[in-house]
Amino acid sequence: MNFEMDCMYKELGIEEAVYTFGETILKDLKERFEKIDETVEYNQLKVIHAMQKNKVSDIHFAATTGYGYNDLGRDTLEEVYASVFHAEAALVRPQLICGTHALNVALSANLRPGDELLSPVGKPYDTLEEVIGIRESRGSLKEYGVSYKQVDLLEDGSFDFENIKKAINEKTKLVTIQRSKGYQTRPTLSIERIKELIAFIKQIKPEVVCMVDNCYGEFVERMEPTDVGADLCVGSLIKNPGGGLAPIGGYIVGKKEYVENAAYRLSSPGLGKEVGATLGITQSFYQGLFLAPTVVGGALKGAIFAANIYEKLGFQVVPNSTESRHDIIQAVTFGTPEGVIEFCKGIQAAAPVDSHVVPEPWAMPGYDSDVIMAAGAFVQGSSIELSADAPIKPPYSVYFQGGLTWQHAKLGILMSLQKLKNASIAKL
Ligand SMILES: *Cc1c(COP(=O)(O)O)cnc(C)c1O
Repeated sequence: MNFEMDCMYKELGIEEAVYTFGETILKDLKERFEKIDETVEYNQLKVIHAMQKNKVSDIHFAATTGYGYNDLGRDTLEEVYASVFHAEAALVRPQLICGTHALNVALSANLRPGDELLSPVGKPYDTLEEVIGIRESRGSLKEYGVSYKQVDLLEDGSFDFENIKKAINEKTKLVTIQRSKGYQTRPTLSIERIKELIAFIKQIKPEVVCMVDNCYGEFVERMEPTDVGADLCVGSLIKNPGGGLAPIGGYIVGKKEYVENAAYRLSSPGLGKEVGATLGITQSFYQGLFLAPTVVGGALKGAIFAANIYEKLGFQVVPNSTESRHDIIQAVTFGTPEGVIEFCKGIQAAAPVDSHVVPEPWAMPGYDSDVIMAAGAFVQGSSIELSADAPIKPPYSVYFQGGLTWQHAKLGILMSLQKLKNASIAKL
């Protein structure tokens, strides 16, 4: 046992028993962590290669203002993203406010009245319900005459090919595939499974647009959805690809035609990609992308560490302690509101920012139940930073993700365990 380290953890509020328990768990994770480091290495090279190929230079970090015409930094960054994703084009903008906005822009830009949208992987992320109009909402796709069909995954998590085939009709224009489980306990889709699903759909209707909601999935594997047939791939810069440095933003990459449609929707018909000042934040987009593979690797280690700890203590974890990983989210089911609340308190107490505040469940726009969120983040709501969210509804699962460094993720998980132990919810 490392005495100095033990003392340091004690200063932060972690008892020896909790620290020691964590170290025992870690001993068995060496090989898996090495595998993660290899993926980090591969993706780091991929990002550097994209930056070199597009001749990234310090002039690209300069600010533009006003209309933002001829913003070289912005245009080159979009080329870099297109290279990383092996896609024809990209839209990477601070004007894309968040992941939901990027998805809304991609969807509403590529659907017209009378078209149908299909989700072959079950219910989409909570905030998308209002975008689509699954839950009545002002300005939804439904209000604009876009209909929606959904085919749920089968009981065992596999695709319901038979019903997907039945659901595709002459109106089906766009298929939305959510890679990550989001606030659900279904498995996250691997790139391999996304490939299989897209191939199946294209064989039934080749002209259908296949879009992947890539939130939380970037750089977890060596390939991205655009490497396996996705026409569009969408995500948030305050998640994985922003590397913790991007203070805002979203991206849409894929086929040129669909990305341009998105640009015309985001700015205006006639203006498209030509406008949109970057006000001096481009450097953080580049530097964040550069760091993203490493940051994602640290977050993955944290997720695996948490899965192993809580599974060992008898809680249900998704993914489980040994499963392969396809996003950075870890779900832990506590079965009671107290469990998820104590967990979130621990994550908050371990934060570099706002560690002194105590999170409480609250009503949030876009969600249909109270939600508790722990995030002592440098960027508000950034979930590539160590954070935990839990809707206060059965089965009382907490969704944990991020950590800009593995060491911080480790501290957060140990602190959550400390809080659960103090409340007698977890027994070591
Ligand atoms: C986070 C997330 C979104 C929405 O992103 P916001 O930035 O929170 O608006 C959409 N889909 C999935 C799968 C997500 O994880």
